[in-house]
Amino acid sequence: MNGIVPVWTSCRFMLIALAIAFALPPGAQAEPLAKNLFGHKKLPAAIAPKAHGFYSKGCLAGGIAIAADGDHWQAMRLSRNRRWGHPRLITLLERLSREAAQDGWPGLMVGDISQPRGGPMLTGHASHQIGLDADIWLRPMPKKRLSRKERETVSAISVLKKNSLYVDDRVWTRAHAAVLKRAASYAEVERILVHPGIKKKLCDTVKGDRGWLRKIRPFWGHHYHFHVRIGCPPGSTGCKRQARTAAGDGCDKSLAWWFTEEPWRPAKGPKRPKRRDVMKLSQLPKACRAVLKAAGPVSANAVTLGYNGALTAAKAKAGVFSQVMSLDVPVPRPRPVN
Ligand SMILES: [Zn+2]
Repeated sequence: MNGIVPVWTSCRFMLIALAIAFALPPGAQAEPLAKNLFGHKKLPAAIAPKAHGFYSKGCLAGGIAIAADGDHWQAMRLSRNRRWGHPRLITLLERLSREAAQDGWPGLMVGDISQPRGGPMLTGHASHQIGLDADIWLRPMPKKRLSRKERETVSAISVLKKNSLYVDDRVWTRAHAAVLKRAASYAEVERILVHPGIKKKLCDTVKGDRGWLRKIRPFWGHHYHFHVRIGCPPGSTGCKRQARTAAGDGCDKSLAWWFTEEPWRPAKGPKRPKRRDVMKLSQLPKACRAVLKAAGPVSANAVTLGYNGALTAAKAKAGVFSQVMSLDVPVPRPRPVN
C-alpha cells in the first residue's frame, strides 16, 4: 500500500507535463531561451562588426575583446567573459584609459561590456546586449597588476555615504569628475549612467563648461561603477537608436525627482520575471540567428585589442580586425597576468 502513493504521484506529474506540452503551440516548447544560446558562446562571430537591435534586445556581430591588461586599464571579473564589444566601443575605451590618465585618473578598472556575441545574459544587466555599453568601476586603478584571482574578488567602491543618496566627500575626488567629463567629451558617447547622487554632485560643483552634463544621466544603482553607452555605429543599419537626451544640463526638476520617495518605493503587485529571463531568439532581430551560427575567429587573442600588439587600436579603427581574424597564425601563449 505504501508504494502505491509515490507511484501514483509521479504518474500524475508526468500526465500534467504531457498535457502542458500538447497544449502549447507547435514548436513553442522547443524554442530555447536566448540567454542560454548567447550566454554559452565563448568566441565572437567572425563576420563584419554590426550591432543588431536595441541595447536591451539584440546581439553583436564581429565583436572584439579588450585585453586583460593595458598601460592604463585592468579588466575585472575575467571569468565572466564579458570583455567583448563593437570595435568602436573597445577602441574608445582604450582611448579613454589613455586620456583620462592625463587628467589624473590612474586607469580604468573595466567591468562588464558584452558577451562575445552580445545577446541577453544569464545573469545581471538588462542592456549590454549589442556591444555598445561598458561598465567602468568608480574605483581608481591600483598601481599593482591584480592577479586573476584578485580580479574575481576585489570589490568596486561605492562613492555614496552609507544609506544615503549623496556622495561621500571622503571618497569622491576631482579625478572622478575628470574621468566622467572625459568620457562624455567623445562624440560617440551618447549617455553615461550614474547614480542620482553623482549627477547632483556634478551639478553642484562643475564650473565653466557644463554642456557635457547633458550626457550624464541619473539612474538606479551605478554608484560602484558608471556605464558608458555609445550610439549606433555607422554601418549598423539594424541598430535601433535611443531617443536623444533632452537639451540642457539636466540639473533641474528631472533630477529633483530622484530625491523624492517615488523612485525608491517598492513596486506593487506580483513580481514579473525579468525580460532577459524569458526572451526567446525569435524576439530578437532576425540577423541574430546568423550571428549565433557564424564561425568564430581562430582564437580570442587574434581579436583582442591590446594583446601583445595582435590588434592595435589603429588597426581596429581601420577595420583591419576582420583580416586579423582570418589569419591562420599560431596562437601565442597567454601572457601571465602578474
Ligand atoms: Zn552597465
